[in-house]
Amino acid sequence: MSVAERFDMWRAIVRNEVDIVIGARSAVFAPLARLGIIVVDEEHDDSYKQSEGFRYQGRDLALMRGQMEGVPVVLGSATPSLGSWQRSQQQLLSPLSLTERVGKRPLPEVILVDMKNAEVEGGLSQELRDAITATLERQQQCLLLLNRRGYSPFLLCGDCGASYRCPNCEITLTWHRKIGQLRCHYCDYHQPPDDECPKCGGAAMDPEGMGTERLADELQVLYPDARIARMDRDTTSAKNAQQALIGRMEQRDVDILVGTQMIAKGHDFAAVTLVGVVDTDAALNFPDFRSAERSFSLLAQVAGRAGRADLPGRVVIQTYSVDNPVLQCAIEHDYLRFAKQELPLRQLLFYPPFGYLANLVLSGLDRHEVERIADELMGALESQAKVCGDVEVLGPAPCPLFRLRNRYRMQILLKAQDRTVLRRLLAYAPQWKRHLSARLTLVLDVDPVDMM
Ligand SMILES: [Zn+2]
Ligand SMILES: [Zn+2]
Repeated sequence: MSVAERFDMWRAIVRNEVDIVIGARSAVFAPLARLGIIVVDEEHDDSYKQSEGFRYQGRDLALMRGQMEGVPVVLGSATPSLGSWQRSQQQLLSPLSLTERVGKRPLPEVILVDMKNAEVEGGLSQELRDAITATLERQQQCLLLLNRRGYSPFLLCGDCGASYRCPNCEITLTWHRKIGQLRCHYCDYHQPPDDECPKCGGAAMDPEGMGTERLADELQVLYPDARIARMDRDTTSAKNAQQALIGRMEQRDVDILVGTQMIAKGHDFAAVTLVGVVDTDAALNFPDFRSAERSFSLLAQVAGRAGRADLPGRVVIQTYSVDNPVLQCAIEHDYLRFAKQELPLRQLLFYPPFGYLANLVLSGLDRHEVERIADELMGALESQAKVCGDVEVLGPAPCPLFRLRNRYRMQILLKAQDRTVLRRLLAYAPQWKRHLSARLTLVLDVDPVDMM
């Protein structure tokens, strides 16, 4: 929606001309005078959290608004966030279960392929290639999930091992072959590759690893007659482009749709009977305490795209860690088992939903100043924490993305088992500002979702 469209809609709501408002997270602020119910669909989705500017969690605000206005709030999900699940177990939320799939759809068969012993071609194991061939022969459609856009995550010099890095961020540049550009996925930086290695002058800079663009190319080689399309942020940035792609899928103009997690979200394509997950290991091994929850949720969501009553579906998951308990739960479509094995791990470390976090990120252009002030803040926080009660002050540590858009970044993580104790410490926030020069920025993120 454009700003003007937003404004018109806002005024229509204020004038009491609207009965139902449908929207993304900011719809929680819709000025409805006769609010009767709030429904938060796919409540587990991280995008309910706004992680920039005015930070808020749309789902939690919905619960708060429901409480303030005395109206029911329904959180819906096939893979509830562990926080909501835990609250339903404690009867803080009332659990409501759907025991049947929509249209009595059978659950698809899920197969794990051990990539350690796989015969791989174009990033695909023999098992997945055979499954694609069989699906195409039946004139049904395939969805292939690869949660990495671009052609390859980097170009690598075969002689000296150099790769292109973003001059503004601590990150390699992703190779986008179609547009002939190396791009940073965090800032706007982009450049064409040089004819030779910028470090040693060697002739060959080779694409290393695979993104959606490359997967689509490899598939076209393996299946020359198949109609292949790609859905990721690069192919859907133009207005209505995503809708057009969905239309082509529905009209069966596409045999194989390759995409990032975008393809897992809610689409209902009648003729999709095969879902392939090309890589699970990057997400499972992502350094974040929520990586298991996110992986399980994504696998369950994408598996839900395969098959329906008259056309049974199949899911093929490629992985280097077949024994991973998250994958074992995903094969069995067993959310309960997943929650039962994951929650005790969270409890052990007092991570949410058994503890509360706030992340402080200090950033600035001068690395030494950032590091020095982070230490200073740490000292202040530690003495303030002592009078607040049981709250851990962890750090200061470089953020996983230590340099981003030219700024150096250090973080201090606050962790408490009791939210009121955490709030007591956060009440000192105005004092923290005294340590900052105008060159530094301090961001306070309560209940952080993205801690990169
Ligand atoms: Zn080189
Ligand atoms: Zn960058």
